[in-house]
Amino acid sequence: MKQIDPQGLIKSKLIDGEDIRLKVKQLAAEISRDYRGKCPLMIGILRGAFIFLSDLVRELQIPAVVDFMSLSSYGTSTESSGVVRILKDLEEEIEGRDVIVVEDIIDTGLTLKYLIETLKARNPASLEVCALLVKEGKQQVDISARYVGFRIPDEFVVGYGLDFAEKFRQLSGIYAIDLAKIERCR
Ligand code: 5GP
Repeated sequence: MKQIDPQGLIKSKLIDGEDIRLKVKQLAAEISRDYRGKCPLMIGILRGAFIFLSDLVRELQIPAVVDFMSLSSYGTSTESSGVVRILKDLEEEIEGRDVIVVEDIIDTGLTLKYLIETLKARNPASLEVCALLVKEGKQQVDISARYVGFRIPDEFVVGYGLDFAEKFRQLSGIYAIDLAKIERCR
């Protein structure tokens, strides 16, 4: 860890990589059961959801199509503002299709609310959300994610695809960052 985190920004491990593996398998089993006979379009939100989506689709027992979107939320590096811009749109048409948005983490929920409204306007047959992490008590808007991996306390987390300043995505578990240390570094 010292080589990946020379500044010692990581303060604790919240979720072990093995627990994520088991949870992803469980979520994939639920999706496979719920979408039996269908072929959902799995939309990964870049970049944070890239590892989660790739692990999730490999556990699915049904056919699925993969596409990606990239969004940017205006705000500070650790707080979302709810004003969202689409940096990369879908390649696939979603009208009449069963869509599952695969998101790394729901914090305020503002990013996802905007995204859901945008996608609903394109008339999918169905639209559900699968989020690896949900921060407990932080949502400013009502977001009902049908599939949720873990509910976590209000910490800024990295690992398993999530970054801080583009670092730490490669970690196989989920870790909390010491924000006080980052403030001191600025
Ligand atoms: P929201 O709009 O729900 O507040 O934030 C959604 C986006 O902000 C997430 O998709 C993620 O990119 C980023 N985000 C929110 N909380 C965290 C966090 O604890 N760690 C990291 N790395 N990104 C976060």
